[in-house]
Amino acid sequence: MTRYITHFESAIDGTTYPADQLQTWHANRPLWSRYDLDRIRAAVTPEIIASRRENMWRYRELLPVGDEVEPISLDEQMTPTVACPRLAQHLNLDHVYIKDESRLATCSFKARGLSLALTMARHFGVRRVAMASNGNAGGAMAIYAARGGLDSFVLVPHNTPITNIAECLQCGAVIFYGNGFIDQCGRLVRQGHDRKLWFDISTMKEPYRLEGKKTMGLELAEQFGWDLPDVIFYPTGGGTALIAMWKAFKELRELGWLKSSRMPRIISVQSTGCPPLVQAYEKGERFVTRYENTDTIASGLRVPQGIGDFMVLDAVRESGGKVVAAEESQLFAWQKLLASHEGLLVCPETATCIGALVEMAGCGEIKRSEKVVIFNTAAGQKYMDYFKPQLPELDLNNFDWSRIESQFTRPAYAE
Ligand SMILES: *Cc1c(COP(=O)(O)O)cnc(C)c1O
Repeated sequence: MTRYITHFESAIDGTTYPADQLQTWHANRPLWSRYDLDRIRAAVTPEIIASRRENMWRYRELLPVGDEVEPISLDEQMTPTVACPRLAQHLNLDHVYIKDESRLATCSFKARGLSLALTMARHFGVRRVAMASNGNAGGAMAIYAARGGLDSFVLVPHNTPITNIAECLQCGAVIFYGNGFIDQCGRLVRQGHDRKLWFDISTMKEPYRLEGKKTMGLELAEQFGWDLPDVIFYPTGGGTALIAMWKAFKELRELGWLKSSRMPRIISVQSTGCPPLVQAYEKGERFVTRYENTDTIASGLRVPQGIGDFMVLDAVRESGGKVVAAEESQLFAWQKLLASHEGLLVCPETATCIGALVEMAGCGEIKRSEKVVIFNTAAGQKYMDYFKPQLPELDLNNFDWSRIESQFTRPAYAE
């Protein structure tokens, strides 16, 4: 058996815990996974990784799985990093990319974390997993539970997108609505964990999901030839993937795999409908105060108070980035700005990042030559609950060509 994880470590006080048994959070705070990076450096190289199958398991030495562990997998493909030259030109920038996580099996980046978390839970003998979720995480848990032959229980707040409800129901999860927000749902799921009704897979409450999401950062580095971009935009709810990417970059730097020691600035973006991290960032604080009036169509960002708050704020500050809010009422407009320039229909969570990019490019905070990557965390197609277009109607028995012609601004054929 070969495994490179050595132990877990409390993110708040450094207490260590063994890696060879199932771990959950301790003292209400998350755990870091720690590895023997010297042994990894001796065992594997970027060249060896390049020769492997193009899915997230190609980085297995940097994951908590030993080679005896059988993954619960839907072949988590490397997601494309798509250049967006027309949007870039519109913003007077040279290099804008979307890393499109919507191509994964669950149409969201939650696939990576849940694939790994359920793999480890099953490995250590868990038969039922549970989660408090705003949608995509619960859906992904139900999907991977079905794939791995586990039972699952999901507790979601009202207003959770219907697509996520369908993912849970059709994959055989037991699912309930709760009349509150995700942190309140989370407390109940925790109580059930303490009663041994299930294993709690909720955000940051077990250490494995974070490691699965680390592959977003590893993949990005590999796709950029082990030379990281200058700026990364990430739509932040609980912040798992932001924390995970920053951890990935630091591990890569320590392994000596990066071409330079320059790290990207991480821009964490929330909606004005739920900006607790923005408020803490602006006040110079390390922990958030619960935001009481959460109201955003970006369901993944409906997190009034995340338990990894300090890990997000530490990472952003260390990177020289910042936490900003994008105006809730503009989310569909920014979604359209990208879609109409590039044909990529991103989720409303990612629309906040488009808004933040427009703002920061406009005021010169991003230099023209800088390489900018925006994470599209899910497919826009999953979010049709709030999309209510007013389409003009055409009378097909008696139609008026001028109504159609007046809509077009240029000839149909090149001269
Ligand atoms: C969960 C989710 C987020 C937020 O992710 P965190 O890791 O909790 O910050 C962003 N976008 C989408 C689509 C999500 O499902």
